[in-house]
Amino acid sequence: MADLAQRHVPAGHTLRGVTMRAGPRQGIDLDAMQIAWRAVMLARGHADGEVALHCTIDPWNCTCTGCGSRWTSDAPAESACPGGCEAAPTFAGNSDLQVINIDVDP
Ligand SMILES: [Zn+2]
Repeated sequence: MADLAQRHVPAGHTLRGVTMRAGPRQGIDLDAMQIAWRAVMLARGHADGEVALHCTIDPWNCTCTGCGSRWTSDAPAESACPGGCEAAPTFAGNSDLQVINIDVDP
């Protein structure tokens, strides 16, 4: 992940921040990810907190098996059909991991 970001940094520029987007199937724990990120950046010689990581996780796409309603949820296991059906919804989500943006200093 850090390598992915580093490859986007133009020569002679310093990485200051990375914005990422992850699919829900990645199962990312944001707190754990921040801790891992700090460790990687420190190991690469950056000062603590010098390179910020911003990560957003896409919600699951839920579909009601009763009425076909669709909605999105961060916690599909606790999610129910907005139409009030008791039928169990199905969940779909991707496992993408993308670098959306990087901030660099010249
Ligand atoms: Zn429904």
